[in-house]
Amino acid sequence: MSLAPRRDHVLLTPGPTPIHPRAQQALLRPMLGHMDPEVFALNREIQADLRQMYGAGEGTFTALLAGTGSLGMEAGFANLVEPGDEVLVCANGSFGHRMAEMAGRYGARVRLVTAPHGEAIRPEAVAAQLGGVQMVALVHGETSTGVLNPLPEIAELVRGSGALLTVDAVTTAGMEPFEMERWGVDYAYTGAQKCLSAPPGLAPVAVSDRALARFEARRTAVPLWYADFGGLRDYWERQTYHHTVPVNLHYALHAALRAALDEGLPQRQHRAAQVGRAILQTLAPLGFSPYVERAAERLPTVLALRLPPGFDDAGIRQALRVREISVTGGLGPTAGLIWRLGLMGETARPEPYRALMLALEELLG
Ligand code: PLP
Repeated sequence: MSLAPRRDHVLLTPGPTPIHPRAQQALLRPMLGHMDPEVFALNREIQADLRQMYGAGEGTFTALLAGTGSLGMEAGFANLVEPGDEVLVCANGSFGHRMAEMAGRYGARVRLVTAPHGEAIRPEAVAAQLGGVQMVALVHGETSTGVLNPLPEIAELVRGSGALLTVDAVTTAGMEPFEMERWGVDYAYTGAQKCLSAPPGLAPVAVSDRALARFEARRTAVPLWYADFGGLRDYWERQTYHHTVPVNLHYALHAALRAALDEGLPQRQHRAAQVGRAILQTLAPLGFSPYVERAAERLPTVLALRLPPGFDDAGIRQALRVREISVTGGLGPTAGLIWRLGLMGETARPEPYRALMLALEELLG
């Protein structure tokens, strides 16, 4: 296989997203040791910028885990759940069910609140099951169906119950409003390759002071040594060795996060909404329609479109791939039924979507 530079690929998937030019540049910086004072200074800036991105309070511990978004998910259950805890998982798509699977593996007694695919979790359904629960887990933006769950409403209910609230912010943080402190979220995570347009391999996480107190009060050791909050705090707060962090990925994430904050989070939200509206307007006459019926439940960063009747999903996506355009179909129950067009980070721009429209015009004649 040739490793020669290739012409630009048009990556319209719901992650990974094209790497931001400032992050790409940062990857070229020479390597420094993970215990180098300059790396610790960079880490401190990352921590402050993450607090800003998540809308987190001063007492919130922020850090990067050396893994993808799934490690962020797993770390939440590993650190904040003990065997026998009751965990209420809101599951209306593949990633909600992944949360339930992980919580169970860490010994939780899992209760599920579900909603049909393409519909949001109802806050009343959460309220009805809160009794005796130690943690509620929710995916803010369910990538598999393009649904935005009503996080502020659910958070308000959870706050009054004493349970911790763990939120998957993989498709939202850095692009959509996220108010960790105001809403009362206790643990949030994302993946570097989503809304921030940094390379995959890091999970930015935020742990509230309430969650840290729960962690400190554990009766049992955290079963996942690698992402134990104690070990992470040793490195990020006390600057002692825990494991070798991927310094080059820290450089890139720092640059991408700074670029996002420089642009402004409201501006990024506006950009995703604007490009999304334009795509829908262009594709509706071709027979595509929103998969999520209620407009208020549509996730602005992943546009899920029902395919026109008789549409050759696999064939058209293959023909697009030959033209260097990557489009993602459905996942699990939505496979063959929908396309999921990414509007995160650098994907939420008119130019790459113009390329898709031109190619479709040609293919669909
Ligand atoms: N949660 C959500 C909502 C996601 O969309 C994804 C990935 O697409 C994940 C978790 C898992 O992230 P990763 O694939 O980076 O491990």
